[in-house]
Order: sequence, then C-alpha cells, then structure tokens
Amino acid sequence: MSVTQSLTLDPDARTAENAMIFVDGAFVAAASGGTFPTVDPNTGKTIAQVPRADGTDVDRAVAAAKRVAVEWQFTDAIARAGLLRALAAKVTEHADELARLEALDSGHYLAKAQELVGAIPLWLDYWASLADKVGGRTIEVPGNKLSFTVLEPLGVTAHIVPWNYPLLILVRSCAPALALGNTCVVKPAEDTSLSALKFAELVSEAGFPDGVFNVVTGYGTEAGASLAAHPDVAGITFTGSTETGKAVTKLAADHIAQVNLELGGKSPTIVFPDADLDDAVEAAVQGFCSHTGQVCVAGTRLFVHADIRDEFLGKLTARLDSTQVGDGFADGTQMGPLVSQKQYDRVRSYIETGKTEGTLHYGGGRPAGAPDGGYFIEPTVFVDVGHDARIAREEIFGPVASVHSWSTEDELVEAVNDSIYGLFAVLLGRDITRLLSTARRLQVGGVMINDWFGELPMTPHGGHKQSGTGREEGLEAVHGYTQVKHVTVNLDGSLRAGTDWAGAPL
Ligand code: NAD
Repeated sequence: MSVTQSLTLDPDARTAENAMIFVDGAFVAAASGGTFPTVDPNTGKTIAQVPRADGTDVDRAVAAAKRVAVEWQFTDAIARAGLLRALAAKVTEHADELARLEALDSGHYLAKAQELVGAIPLWLDYWASLADKVGGRTIEVPGNKLSFTVLEPLGVTAHIVPWNYPLLILVRSCAPALALGNTCVVKPAEDTSLSALKFAELVSEAGFPDGVFNVVTGYGTEAGASLAAHPDVAGITFTGSTETGKAVTKLAADHIAQVNLELGGKSPTIVFPDADLDDAVEAAVQGFCSHTGQVCVAGTRLFVHADIRDEFLGKLTARLDSTQVGDGFADGTQMGPLVSQKQYDRVRSYIETGKTEGTLHYGGGRPAGAPDGGYFIEPTVFVDVGHDARIAREEIFGPVASVHSWSTEDELVEAVNDSIYGLFAVLLGRDITRLLSTARRLQVGGVMINDWFGELPMTPHGGHKQSGTGREEGLEAVHGYTQVKHVTVNLDGSLRAGTDWAGAPL
C-alpha cells in the first residue's frame, strides 16, 4: 500500500498512527514489515510504532534520490527556492501539530517545541534566498583564456539526525542541500522519528518532485549504517555523538563520500570577575539545563573566577530552586524529561560517578512531584571537581555541570583547551579586551560573549577537534553541499598546440 499522508496525531491520547517511511514520494511500510515503538519521555508510554527500515529500504530511497538527482540539479534555482518557500508556508500552517509531535517524541516542553518549530521557516527562507546567489569565481590565467569555477551539487546526500533537536537539525542540513540542487535521504534518530515523517508529508504537499526528499526510519546500526555505506551517496551530514561520527566516517571512506560531522562537546561557560552575576547565572543555567542538558553546545563546565565563586554559587542555587521541572505539556514547565530510559540511566550513572569525584552541590535526584514513568532528573551541580574527573571531561548529555574556579587567564585557557572537544564557549564579563583576547585563544568553533547560544541560519556552526568537521549554517555551509568544477575556455578559438601552462613548448 502506498499513501500520500502519514501520521495522525491524537493529542489527548498522546498517540500517533500511520507512521510510515517516505520513499519516492509515497508513504510505505518498511520492506520487512518490521516496526519498533517510540515513547513519550514524559510518561514512558508508547506513542506509535515506527517502521524499522533496513538496507532494502535504504536502497530504494537512495535509488529514488539518484534517479531524480540530475533533473533536480538542473531545475532552475529560482524554482527550487520557490518550493522551499512553499514548504516554509506549510510548516507555518502545520506548526501546532509539528510542535506537539516534537514535544511528545523528544521531551522538549511544549512552549519550547513551539518556539523551535516557529523558527524552522527562517532556515528554509535563508536557503531559498541563497539558491540563486551562490556561485563560483573567475580566475586570472596566462594567455587569452577565460577560466572560472562552477559550484555543483554533490548528488544524493544522506542526513543522519540525532534526537535532541530532531526537526531543526534535519532542516538545517536538508535546506541547503535542496537549495543547492542535491537530493536527500534522511535517517532520523530511532527515539524521535515522528516530526521527520510529518515534515515529509509537507514536502510532498509543497510540490517537491517525487524522490527529491526521502525519509527512512530505523536503527542506527541498520538503516543508518546502510545509508552511510551506500556507494551512491555522495555526501553525508552526520549530527550525533563523536563515537558514531567516527563509525560513519569509516563507512563513508569505502566510497569516498564527502562527510560533514557535527559532533559532541564539553563546552565551557566562563565567568569573569567583572561579570553581571545575575546574567552570568542565567547564561550558566541556560547553558547546562536547556533541553535538560541534551544540547551539543551545553555549557557543562562552569569556569568561575575565584573572587566571585561563592557569590555565584549562592545565586546559582537560588535560580535552580525556581526552575520548574516536569511534564512538558504542563503550564509553566521550564525543563522536561530526558529523552529515553537509556539516556536517563546514563545520566544517573554519571551523577553517581560525580559523587566519587567531587562534592554534590545541588540536585542529583528525581524532582519532587515529577510524573511517574517519565525520565525526569534534577538540575545537578558538582563542586571540588578536578579537571581530570570523568564528569569534567566526558559529554554527559544531561543537566549536570561542574564548577571550577580560576585565577589567571593562562590557567583558564589551558584547562578549557585540555579537552578532546572544541565546539563552543560562552564568556561573561565587562572588559571586552580581556574577553576577546581570551576568546582568541580558545580552541572552539563558536563563541558567545555576554549571551547564550541562539542557533541562527546565518551564523556558521561546527566544531574544532573531535567536535566535528565542516560547518552547518551561514555561507560556510555551501561547501558541505557543493563541489567545484573548474572550466577554462581558450578564447583564441583554436588550440595553440604545443604549449604548456606557461606558454612554452612542451
Ligand atoms: P548518536 O550518535 O547515538 O546517533 C545519531 C544518529 O546516528 C541517529 O540517527 C542514530 O540512529 C545514527 N546512528 C547510530 N549508529 C550509527 C551507525 N553505526 N551508522 C550510521 N548511523 C548511526 O547520537 P544521539 O545520541 O542521537 O545524539 C546526541 C549526540 O549528538 C551528542 O553527542 C551531541 O553532542 C551530538 N549533537 C551534536 C550537534 C552539533 O551540531 N555538533 C547537534 C546535536 C547533537
């Protein structure tokens, strides 16, 4: 059976029906007929059964994307842009349902999910605007010749997406891929497939040709690995853990696919002695509690100047006391659950490790009054933690931070850079010279000064070291979805036989 509509959400029952993969313009079951459950992290209850796609489904999706790749490449950029704008309008029209699905599946509290979905058209519009503007350059070469470059799409691109910002991360890579003439096969994370399937329905309604955009749901080691290993996939954008990023890179190496990696982090929030402490506390809390700490740029290492450490900790405690943790659909919730039982067990295990590595300053348990069955955890802060502690070095991906005091910039920079990660840093203070000279020395892909991370389509995002390669967003992302063709034309109209590049006889 093949249908053009997927997913019906029952918001009261918190369930959804008809989850099907989207291949070649139609919603179909996985070839094997297999499914797996996706759960509401607020309750632990099953929302829907999702198709368990495998290599057979991936082959079909990639074949469809390959079949239309040339036609899509040579579709006028202005027409591709028009479709992206039509898709943006569809997202706006269906924003409420998309936000509810996202909140239900990923555990973002509803108001945050609405904010995130509301922002998605920005990414679609940004890349729609650029579709007919990015291009190559002319090159001065010796002789009467015209030399230039053309930027061409890669062809079939794979988009392997994590569960923390399912729709935003899908869109931030598929929007440039589509705008620049690539076709897409998306593999959402197994915990959060639903918004991608709803989005596929909107892609279809917006009028994209069949095969240009496909979604295969399933496990990483099955559907994900088949996609990364597929010889007809020319480019892979992988967003996820550093460990899986290494596995995907190895699979891609067999067929020399271009790989963009947006990986993990262990980011610092750095508080200078002249910082506005209320602002600094707010940035710190946003840094490690946003989406319950499940954010790649999460500021889980708080470097607070020794002169203000005690005052900072007092204010931090008061701010955390007022944080409302609970069911994401309840009014006033500011922090929802972790995404899954697996993630809950992982974070709890790090908290137990932290108790042996430092002193528990705040939290560490289950929030009072949290709904039964959900994966809720208190914001948790450790002090007296050495830089070598596991909780200070490893990505926990939960609302767990360690506080480290510092006295000199040299000592601070050495501790911050002593990490396999290099994604992001937040600096808070008033002396801009001091802030900028420290920012220059940090081995990270992005810095915010006196602000918390706000993802935007126009600012490049990505990491140094084991936090990734390539950049999403901004003009820099063009390189991740294009390849360069160089063309030289002999304007003499005939071959000047027997000369090499410098015009000398061969
Ligand atoms: P993950 O690595 O477990 O999974 C990511 C995706 O890869 C999922 O779709 C998964 O099914 C798939 N996958 C798993 N094994 C695979 C394999 N062998 N081959 C191909 N695909 C496979 O990551 P996660 O737990 O879903 O997400 C959390 C991680 O993502 C964190 O480390 C976080 O820092 C990172 N992240 C990074 C960014 C960024 O922009 N740098 C953004 C969001 C999340």
